[in-house]
Amino acid sequence: MAPLTSFRVGGNAKFYVEIKSLDELKEAIEYAKENKLDFYVLGGGTNLLVSDKGFDGLVIRIKMNELKVDGACLEIQAGVPLIKAINTAASAGLSGLEYLAGIPGTVGGAVRGNAGAYSCEICSAVKNVTAYDCETNKEVVIEGGLCDFSYRSSVFKKNKNLIVISTILELAPAKMEDIQEKTKETIVKRASMGLHGVKSAGSFFMNPTVADDKLKEEFSKEKGVAVRN
Ligand SMILES: Cc1cc2nc3c(=O)[nH]c(=O)nc-3n(C[C@H](O)[C@H](O)[C@H](O)COP(=O)(O)OP(=O)(O)OC[C@H]3O[C@@H](n4cnc5c(N)ncnc54)[C@H](O)[C@@H]3O)c2cc1C
Repeated sequence: MAPLTSFRVGGNAKFYVEIKSLDELKEAIEYAKENKLDFYVLGGGTNLLVSDKGFDGLVIRIKMNELKVDGACLEIQAGVPLIKAINTAASAGLSGLEYLAGIPGTVGGAVRGNAGAYSCEICSAVKNVTAYDCETNKEVVIEGGLCDFSYRSSVFKKNKNLIVISTILELAPAKMEDIQEKTKETIVKRASMGLHGVKSAGSFFMNPTVADDKLKEEFSKEKGVAVRN
């Protein structure tokens, strides 16, 4: 698995398949069930730490790769690299994803983990998500508001039976040059953080959300304080 993850570590998978269509996904799940194998869904492998012992089951890599612009919407299959979706939106004059530029991985992984950066999360653009429910063997379409999105989480993270197949992102028309500029700026800003080419899975820490006003005041007063006596 090492070559398939950004950490570049991890032993072998007992079985491995790349799926390019829903039918292939169904077939893979059926195979796992029939042979009593655990299965694990893999996107871009950029948020994954695999044991040196590998995985004693079937790894299913999502490679469904279609992408369509329809008015102000982007219809994207789960295996599309997030950056490709962002660049397509920019070329189509559709704004809303610029601050996500530079987050590696696939659209499926981003939806599942509600990927975000610079106060922008993918959930703010999600109109709906089509998922395959491995328990019922049926496709389900879940409206964005019902995906239970929260900080780096979603219903797809909580329910391992739901595999993201595709999503429709609803974006806002804007000037193409402005979107491209904002996208480029974001990429440059991220590049300066020195994570390019480093064996990592990005940040290990969650940004705390502070609701309490008193605490907020305390934090702002102590901004920059390294040690409190
Ligand atoms: C250098 C670097 C910088 C990063 N910066 C950020 C950042 O700024 N913000 C941020 O949010 N994240 C960041 N990440 C983490 C990572 O890129 C995101 O979490 C990304 O969305 C993961 O997508 P992936 O396709 O690589 O998922 P993977 O790593 O392949 O999988 C991650 C999890 O999602 C599941 N999964 C993958 N595809 C699907 C699917 N189709 N359906 C259901 N489950 C699925 C997998 O089973 C696994 O549990 C960074 C990572 C790196 C290496």
